[in-house]
Amino acid sequence: MGKRFAIIGAGMSGILTAIKLKERGIEDFAIYEKAARLGGTWRDNTYPGLSCDVPSHVYAYSFELKGDWSHRFSPGAEIQGYFEGVARKYGLDRHFRFNSEIERAEYRDGRWHLTIKGGATDIVDFVISATGVLHHPATPDIPGLGDFKGACFHSARWDHSAPLDGKRVGIIGTGSTAIQIVPALADRVSKLTLFQRTAQWVLPLANPPYSDDEKAMYLASPQSLQQSYDFWSARFVDTFARAVIGDQDELHKIEAACRINLEENVGDPELRRRLTPNYRAACKRLIMSDTFYPAMQKPNVELITDGIERIEASGVRTKDGVLHELDVLVLATGFDGHAFLRPIDVIGEGGLRLVDAWAHANEAYRSVAAPGFPNFFMLVGPNSPIGNFSVILISELQLAYVLQLVDLVLDGKCRAVAPSKAATQRFNAALREAMKGTVWVTGCKSWYLDRNGNPALWPWSFDRFRAEMQAPDLTDFDLAA
Ligand code: NAP
Repeated sequence: MGKRFAIIGAGMSGILTAIKLKERGIEDFAIYEKAARLGGTWRDNTYPGLSCDVPSHVYAYSFELKGDWSHRFSPGAEIQGYFEGVARKYGLDRHFRFNSEIERAEYRDGRWHLTIKGGATDIVDFVISATGVLHHPATPDIPGLGDFKGACFHSARWDHSAPLDGKRVGIIGTGSTAIQIVPALADRVSKLTLFQRTAQWVLPLANPPYSDDEKAMYLASPQSLQQSYDFWSARFVDTFARAVIGDQDELHKIEAACRINLEENVGDPELRRRLTPNYRAACKRLIMSDTFYPAMQKPNVELITDGIERIEASGVRTKDGVLHELDVLVLATGFDGHAFLRPIDVIGEGGLRLVDAWAHANEAYRSVAAPGFPNFFMLVGPNSPIGNFSVILISELQLAYVLQLVDLVLDGKCRAVAPSKAATQRFNAALREAMKGTVWVTGCKSWYLDRNGNPALWPWSFDRFRAEMQAPDLTDFDLAA
């Protein structure tokens, strides 16, 4: 009997999985998606100024490069359009199950029994979770949030019905999101107030449009496009990816570039002082922008560094007693990046619940599987190198690895496969040890850190990641006969 698959999530990794299953002639699968359409983070985020700070030519499937991106760093809507186009091209339409949130996945009698919100069910042999990392908006615990009378929304739930032009807009947060919103709104609003709790290092990266000639050249020459993909991939791997895991020379170069950016591009010494972080560059997710500092110096833009006391009907009151009156309040306050899979109730062998298995920490085996959960795999799971290089390539390498494990079952070599507990513990102990050399633990707070203070990232090189994803070491797995 043929085996059935469920993919959870219709974002970048889910679409990728569907394409690769079809490539192998596997058609018996459904892509469950809680939202009404595909796209993941590119569907959820529609805020003004949204673009991807990974170069366009790299931020695409390696087998589906695109020559006519409008800019070096693509606007979000273009990326959403790219995924929609790819899904159409590969004929995925009939596999999508939209508005179908998986509530429960239970391993019983060698198969996964899925319960979908609303009561529908499915029974599959394999689950491939592609649920992403940054999709649970974090609402700040600020008193009075519900009292605000104007429009108030999270950056990933942008309310496009709220007028912005000529309005007084407040933004809480200074992460990658807020730093993109500020320049996009500065010229539209009457007053923009940025509430900063922690200053950020900003690497000045320009985002020039590709000219028509450049686009035509890339469209006509797959080799040029491939060269650009290889060039940008290598730049990331050789510089940034090295810096974050402990290459001090590379880190100093990034720090120097950020410092020079601040010194040369923020004229007022007092504003510069308030925008100067007190931790190492790249400890938090590094910000890339050459438009943020210019925007912060516009006469209608104000930086507030006094802590927020509470939110009131007409605005935000800071601890110095000042009420900052606003028409619109944007919460660019980030995401819970550690929720992995939850709130899905995943129940593995012998009734083992994922919430219990991961009660203290998200401990996966090489990010892609967990002991006690046979034939259940994750893409971009815990400790994936998401802060290091383009997440699309990571997902591709992880999927190629996962499909080798799937093949063990499809080829009849075993009935079920899961990593052993011992191998998973060994891997996580090595992770924790290696984290000590990374920039993420040098004394800042960030969403990278879990509640134990351990970064949820990959502390080694790209070469090591690629080598580990080349082929599973089967001595680390329990294969059920
Ligand atoms: P974030 O980096 O987690 O930033 C959240 C911001 O909100 C921080 O400045 C934080 O301050 C502030 N904040 C949270 N709670 C607060 C409170 N109660 N009071 C005051 N301030 C509060 O979130 P994000 O900017 O949405 O970015 C999340 C991640 O998404 C990024 O790191 C990146 O991985 C990804 N992203 C990528 C792109 C891209 O172009 N590729 C663009 C946007 C986002 P503290 O710093 O003090 O905690």
